[in-house]
Parts: sequence; C-alpha cells; structure tokens
Amino acid sequence: MRWTQTLIPTLREAPQDAEINSHKLMMRAGLIMKLGGGLYTFMPAGLRSLRKVERIVREEMDRAGALEVLMPALQPREIWEQSGRYAILRDAMFKIKDRQQRDMVLGPTHEEVITDLANRQINSYRQLPKTFYQIQTKFRDEIRPRFGLMRAKEFIMKDAYSFDVSWEAADASYQAMYDAYIRIFKRCGLRTKVVEADTGAIGGDFSHEFMVLADSGEDGIVECETCAYAANLERAERKTPTGKPSTTDQLPAVVATPGKRTIEEVSSFLKVKPWDLIKTLIYIADDKPIAVLVAGHRELNEHKLTRILKVATLKLADDETIMKVTGAPVGFAGPVGLKIPIYADLELQTPRVSVTGANADDSHLINVMVERDFTVTSFHDLVIAKEGDKCPRCGVRMREKRGIEVGHVFKLGTKYSKAFDAGFLDASGNRQISIMGCYGIGVTRTLQAVIEQSFDENGIIWPMAIAPYQVDVVVPNTAHAESVRVAEELISALEARGIEVLFDDRDERPGVKFKDADLLGLPIRAVISERSLAEGKVEVKRRTEQDKQMIPIADTVAFIESIIKGELS
Ligand code: ATP
Ligand code: MG
Repeated sequence: MRWTQTLIPTLREAPQDAEINSHKLMMRAGLIMKLGGGLYTFMPAGLRSLRKVERIVREEMDRAGALEVLMPALQPREIWEQSGRYAILRDAMFKIKDRQQRDMVLGPTHEEVITDLANRQINSYRQLPKTFYQIQTKFRDEIRPRFGLMRAKEFIMKDAYSFDVSWEAADASYQAMYDAYIRIFKRCGLRTKVVEADTGAIGGDFSHEFMVLADSGEDGIVECETCAYAANLERAERKTPTGKPSTTDQLPAVVATPGKRTIEEVSSFLKVKPWDLIKTLIYIADDKPIAVLVAGHRELNEHKLTRILKVATLKLADDETIMKVTGAPVGFAGPVGLKIPIYADLELQTPRVSVTGANADDSHLINVMVERDFTVTSFHDLVIAKEGDKCPRCGVRMREKRGIEVGHVFKLGTKYSKAFDAGFLDASGNRQISIMGCYGIGVTRTLQAVIEQSFDENGIIWPMAIAPYQVDVVVPNTAHAESVRVAEELISALEARGIEVLFDDRDERPGVKFKDADLLGLPIRAVISERSLAEGKVEVKRRTEQDKQMIPIADTVAFIESIIKGELS
C-alpha cells in the first residue's frame, strides 16, 4: 500500500484530551479519530490491526471448540427484566423505544440473549457441552469514558458463553477458555497477569481477570511477593492482622470532639493513632440499615460486603437516615447502643481498646471494647487489601500494582439458566438446569493495551502479529527514480510472499518520513536511497533495535521474511 493512496493522518502533537501514552500514540499515528466522548472511528491503518486481533481471537476460540454466532445489539427490555438485571444495569445501558413505543436497550453484554437461545435450542444432554461466542459491538453508558478505546461508550468485545451438564463439566469449559485466553494474549504480543476477580453485577461463582500491568490501569491489584496469589482489589483477601491486643477495666466514656468527624480529625484531636479508632459506616443494604465497622486506618470494600450479605443493592445511608438510626449527624456514629445489625472486619476480633463515635453530636466514646460494649452480628474480611498486607495463602508481604483488564472469565453457575429455564433432559430423562460460564475480551481495549505496553519516546513498537503492516519501505528522496524503481521491485517481491508492506512514497522531507516511521512503529523499516544503492544494498532496521543492517538487494526479501517468520513462530 502506498502512503499517498491510503489515509494515515499523523499528528505532531497529541490532542489535549489524550491523557495516557497509548491514547496519545493512537491519535498521533492516525489509527483512530474521535467522533465524541467515548466514540472513535477506526482509520484504515488502525482497522488493519484491529482485524488482526479479531482474527487471533477467532482462531483461538475456534481451536477451543467454541461456536461463532452473532446476536443482535438491539435487545428488548423484557429479557433484562427476566434476568433481574434491568434494575441493576439500567443506568449503564442506552435505552431507546421503537416506533411502537416498545422499550429496547443496546446490549452492554449478552448473557440474556444467549441464555434465551440455549432455552430454545438445547433440549438434551447429548447437545452439551456447548460454548458460543461472538465478536460484536457493545454499548455502555460509562460514567467516565476516557483513555480512548480503553473505556469507550461503544466498543468491540469478544464474548463467549458455555453451557454444561454439571459443575465438573463446567470447570473443563472454563479451563478451555482460560487456556485460549493465555494463547490469545501471547499471540497479540501482550504480557498479562491473571488475577482473581470479583464477580460483580454479572453474579456467579468465581472468576479470573487478565490484566496488563500499567501505571495508567484503572484497576488496583495486589500480588504476593513470593507465591502465585494475585487478585483485583475488589476481591483481594489478606491474612487478618492481629495487632497488639489491649484491654481496659474502664467503661466507655464520652469525650467532646467538636466538629471532628473524620478519622484524621479525631485521631489528631485525641492524639491517638487512626488504628486506635473504629470507623462506623451506616449502609442501606436492600432497603435495610446496617452498620459496618473497620479499623480506623482501613477502607471498607463494598464489593466484599455485597457478596457477603448477598444483597442486590448496597449504598451509603444519607444524612437523614444516619440521624434517624444513630441519633447523631454524620461523623459521630458508633456501635455502642445501635439497634441495627453490625458487621465488623476480622481485624476487630482481637481484643482492643478503641475510640468510636458516640451517637451524639460533637462527641466520641473512648475505652470501647468490641463484644464487651456492643455485640457484633458477624465478623468478616471486609476491607480493601493494600500494599504491605500479608498474603492470604502464604503470609508473605503483598505489593500493589495497577492493571488494565483486557479479559475476564466467570464461572456463572445457574443464575441465568434458571431465569431463562435453560436446561436439558439428562440420560434418565430428567430435566436439569445447565451450568454456565461467560468469558469476555475487550478486543478494542486489547489493541490499545498492546501499545500501552510497547512504545518508546518516538512512537509505537508494534508486535509483528498485529502491526498494521509488517514492513515500512521508505524512499527518502522520491525524485531519485532508481530508488523508487528498486523499492517497487522489492515491494512486489515481498507482497508476492504475503508480506504486508507500506510504501512511504510521499514527497516529504526525509526527516518527516523517518519520524512518521518511528511513530507508526511498523516492525521492520527498509530504506532505499542513493547512498544504499551505491553499495547495491538496502538498509534494514527493526523498530525494536538501534542498529541498521545493510543487506544486498538480492537478499533483502529472504532477510525480511526470516525476521517475520522468527517473530511469528
Ligand atoms: P471494567 O471493570 O473495566 O468496566 P467490566 O468488568 O465491566 O470492565 P466486562 O463486563 O467483564 O467488563 O467486559 C469484558 C471486557 O470488555 C473487559 O474485560 C474489558 O476488556 C472490556 N470492556 C469493558 N468495558 C469496556 C469499555 N467501556 N470500553 C472498552 N472495553 C471495555
Ligand atoms: Mg470485568
């Protein structure tokens, strides 16, 4: 392809709203163009890479035995009511009406549609196991679309769904997808870290996320410094710290803490450590008020609490409710005397003398002891793990990292198959419910994540497998007819071998072409100039290396081909 015939609108500067490297580079290299917040057009070169990622995904899904389908993006609201997810996801969905005023949504995911398919098409255990997949556009009304393709309102996802006769069989389907994901990301040239993940709004049993470690990642992760344990912060456990036990014979006493509401304010006012305080949070869990206690230096993990309480909705109580429940304004709630269920973090099980809110304006209680002065409904691991916490498996220190979630595998169980009566007749003729799994890859996000992991100060460094083209042929001086002639001959020979070539035939200064070559980041650059031809050679350079090699014209095709083969094997 000739540069003058395609459209690669490179930019010297990244647009203002591009915050992270990969977003800046995709814009600067002319791979994508912004239409509006979270909406991007794939330009010709960007689309080539996207199609390559899709091809890898498709090949590995097919290899794993999954069946490709294509489901409608436009879905009737009823199926979302049927699964019970309309209430949970309504704000994240684009909702529209057809001309008959029927409520429709643009699919953010497809569990409902596929389970309806399974309900209609699968009748017998003989048809199972089945894994279906599609590569399709998803729509999500994200609160904060940003970072280009990373968090878009419209994006391409590969989603797959498995149906099995038993939990054991479902484990095998899960494992097949897990293994396929490992191969997919590896083939895309991406290094990923697999972490244990929260099951969130999709619901289900257990799940893993495939993370690309990057400072710009929106997900927090902890990983053990020695064993293989790694988990999303939404999920991560920690070995419960016991701390130094303490006791007192003194009974709780009210102290005045005028205007001191936060842990920081109270601890510095009373000259105690945050650890010596107990944070009391009032939540509304499925319409009922509850109190949640964590040590003062800790943050509550709402994902864990939601899972433990098995509630559909969990939200912080508003000021009015707090006043009603505790008798005090926000900032002075405490467990002593509360008449609602109290859930406490395991760390508070160690006997300790604490400061808590007094359930009265501008006052706190000192000398509070858990279980002596109030009763805890139950203790659980309730906090967000952090750097320095001990690994739940082996007890060694954990560290915190940031990650970009590119893929997610869930063992779902029967949540959707029950709602849609997706079952089968077993060998004895009894009707049973299918066990499901679901598996997503953000295809567009994966493409950008590759760049987030592979660039330098000059531009993108594409892995061979998904580069828009494999070779960039640059003729610095297009007025030199012999250079152009040799270039064209070389390109025909390369293309005859199935190698993808971009020919920078623009009438631009050499400096511009070399800068753009680095920015676009094709894996191999071949320069043909008066100087190289004087030696009868072509200058070949890999994007990953500094050194150039002078290759005799006649050997160039074989040389380039061997580099490509080497990288793709
Ligand atoms: P996130 O936590 O990042 O919002 P999610 O957990 O809601 O993602 P899933 O429902 O698991 O996402 O979707 C499967 C995959 O789709 C994700 O692993 C991610 O790679 C991709 N994805 C999700 N939301 C977006 C988005 N707004 N833009 C681009 N890709 C996305
Ligand atoms: Mg996810």
